[in-house]
Amino acid sequence: MAVVVCLHVPQRGAFCRSHEVMPMASTIGSELHTGDGSDVLARMTAHGHEQVVFVSDPASGYRGILAIHSTRLGPALGGTRLWSYATEDAALTDALRLSEGMTYKAAAAGVPFGGGKAVVVADSRHVDRPALFRAHGRAVESLGGRYITSVDIGTSPDDMRYVREETTHVGGLPSTVGDPSPATAHGVQRAIEAALYHVRGTSDLAGRTVAIQGCGHVGYHLARMLHGAGARLIASDTNDERASRVAREFGAEILPSEAIHTAKSDVFAPCAFGAGLSPATIPDLRCAIVAGAANNQLLSDTDGALLEQHSIAYAPDFIANAGGLIYLCQEVAGWSAERVTSTLEGIFDTMSEVFAMASARAIPSSEAAVRIARDRLAARPPTASDKPRPTARS
Ligand code: NAD
Repeated sequence: MAVVVCLHVPQRGAFCRSHEVMPMASTIGSELHTGDGSDVLARMTAHGHEQVVFVSDPASGYRGILAIHSTRLGPALGGTRLWSYATEDAALTDALRLSEGMTYKAAAAGVPFGGGKAVVVADSRHVDRPALFRAHGRAVESLGGRYITSVDIGTSPDDMRYVREETTHVGGLPSTVGDPSPATAHGVQRAIEAALYHVRGTSDLAGRTVAIQGCGHVGYHLARMLHGAGARLIASDTNDERASRVAREFGAEILPSEAIHTAKSDVFAPCAFGAGLSPATIPDLRCAIVAGAANNQLLSDTDGALLEQHSIAYAPDFIANAGGLIYLCQEVAGWSAERVTSTLEGIFDTMSEVFAMASARAIPSSEAAVRIARDRLAARPPTASDKPRPTARS
């Protein structure tokens, strides 16, 4: 358990100074306040993060933050986000929140991993990607397998090839299982079906209207699957071509991006960026259910209660969007395709459990999801058959 602050990417086998930090119970991190960067240990302690590593490699322009929230169930797994953050503090906040969310996502999904996340602070228009991602690979390697990375917003399977040149602790390579987005979309569909069952008493999608915000990797496949199940689609994307494609292929009605959350629908599915559900947007929703792929959809924890007040059933994001993580278990934990599929299907049951707990205890579903994840985290030490494959250099 350590905070490590490195001024340069360490060469293989080199160590940095560390300071012990004790983890403790936490709530999911929307109240992870932003600060001036001087309170990193306090923020880690408050939310139970084990380790945060800051890495800089001036030669490549690489500046990264690698956050490990928990390794209780296995190595911390989570993608690498490349983003042009306005401030370093914004990057740190993202790394802390996303890594904590990964812990709960893995625990709730029943996969043998802990929670971690990396953010690379860079402007994607002005980077030497091979050099940048090799530097990132060295940063990942310096953690000796405690953190396994993959793709996230701003990074692609091709980038992971450069990471792989420096470390084996990486998944989502183009040569292995490939894009996890269809699996993520499948899991979101199961989450939508569980929410429909909770609200309407049937999970049948035929004739239901779903408004999809964002027609990228996940949103496109979600549109394809929902269309196949007989749903009527409304969609938006800031990228006109992506929106047009789902209109062309699946008959979706297209709305401007600023209006999609106001569409009258059974389900609003956020599949773009997080923090879109807030006191500014929730009163405008005209759906019965919110269920989508985006991470950290609630701007703050109180927005879960606000959705309840508006009689909207919220399918908590980290349960709904676990499909990609489950899919990666083929590559990084040696799971069979059958085990991946049955675990993906299990998203329906976990989501149903969330709604049942929320109703029984009169708490928001967002809070029920965190409780279920924490209970599973506490109850489920990893078993030998679950353990991720050794990731020693081959
Ligand atoms: P993506 O970048 O491929 O797609 C996002 C899409 O949203 C893009 O087409 C973009 O143009 C569009 N967009 C951006 N701002 C928008 C706005 N204001 N209104 C409408 N559209 C907008 O990303 P993705 O891989 O599809 O992931 C979508 C979300 O799901 C992200 O929050 C991601 O973190 C989360 N997620 C993805 C996966 C996965 O397997 N890809 C897994 C878990 C969670």
